[in-house]
Amino acid sequence: MPFLNLGLCNSILQAIDDLGYTAPTPIQKQAIPIILSGKDLIATAQTGTGKTAAFVLPILETFNLESFNKGRTLRGKRIRALILTPTRELAVQVAASVAAYSKHLNLSSLAVYGGVDSEAQKQRLIEGVDILVATPGRLLDLAHQRALHFDELEVLVLDEADRMVDMGFVDDIYKIIDRLPKARQNLLFSATMTDDVRAIAFEFSDSKTSSPAVEISTSPKATTAPTINQWLITVDKDTKSALLSHLINEQQWDQALIFIEKKHGAAKLVAQLAKRGIQADAIHGDKSQAMREKILADFTSGKLKYLVATGVAARGLDIGELSRVVNYDLPFKPEEYIHRIGRTGRAGATGEAISFVAMGDFKNLCAIESRLNHIIDRKEIEGFPVRKVVPVSILNYVRKSER
Ligand code: AMP
Repeated sequence: MPFLNLGLCNSILQAIDDLGYTAPTPIQKQAIPIILSGKDLIATAQTGTGKTAAFVLPILETFNLESFNKGRTLRGKRIRALILTPTRELAVQVAASVAAYSKHLNLSSLAVYGGVDSEAQKQRLIEGVDILVATPGRLLDLAHQRALHFDELEVLVLDEADRMVDMGFVDDIYKIIDRLPKARQNLLFSATMTDDVRAIAFEFSDSKTSSPAVEISTSPKATTAPTINQWLITVDKDTKSALLSHLINEQQWDQALIFIEKKHGAAKLVAQLAKRGIQADAIHGDKSQAMREKILADFTSGKLKYLVATGVAARGLDIGELSRVVNYDLPFKPEEYIHRIGRTGRAGATGEAISFVAMGDFKNLCAIESRLNHIIDRKEIEGFPVRKVVPVSILNYVRKSER
């Protein structure tokens, strides 16, 4: 089904065409008609499925039609749609998508997030903004300072709701919801549907007495896209950096996003790679927003081939066609594993996800493979024999704390 059948206006279709999208993704096919009908939506969808366009396109369509019918009525410091994201990187990316999809429309958009001076953001809000993308903390700051008002808000979107819960934003989300007009459309997107996310969705349904939210899911149980070639190498902790350098050189990797647990470890790994002639850079919470953006831009453009990132700093990064992710450290949570490797093989492209697994990771590996419901292929790399062998996982493993 081409985009033509979804009821979007020509200016939006033109913008989609400019981006080279030929057909809607499954989440777009399902979500766009529901959102256009004005209903609330609770969607389970991973990043990489095209979920941003799934909510942005119908919002643009509705707003464009309203502006056409009524003329532009937006007052100063008012916003019509609020898209909440867990990280500033995601806010920037979503705002870039909004700008791209609305480039032939007369609608304004803006991203506001912490870590940068708020003055420029306040200035932009003075005239009012149709679509505001925001991280929760900065949005509340701006609201407290009366730099924006919510009385004309029509649509609320919570993007990556599970990440927001993980990052401790639940209280902020409730504080924000409290400030919004009750009559509004609510859209929630989450890679996983946990009890906390459900509680937020329930709070949504309270906002209206009429039609209950429609629930859709493009991945009933979040699993990884089949185009991702996953494999692991068991390794001793002290040989990880030598192994990584070996793989980069031997397999002539064009690009890799390398996940590491701790920020000081990230800097150390960059130095270890440099000693072996490999130029990498690191992105973590201690770096300034400007530096993170510069490094990310270099990585996206291909100028920087190897990026080391802590899990938190990498949340929400959309690096487009990423060919490879490496779990230099295996994550504790299976959801985090799925999320990380979802950064590769996006929107149909193929990708590779490689995990380094040391003896201490055995339980995490069991939890991940149990969640995936399959054993990840193991490869042995010549010259890297392991002293501490990691046993093969038990597939129905449940952590003690979860029993
Ligand atoms: P998202 O899940 O929103 O992070 O989108 C993942 C990637 O898919 C982004 O790079 C989008 O530009 C791209 N994308 C979104 N919708 C489509 C589509 N219908 N066809 C091709 N690519 C798309």
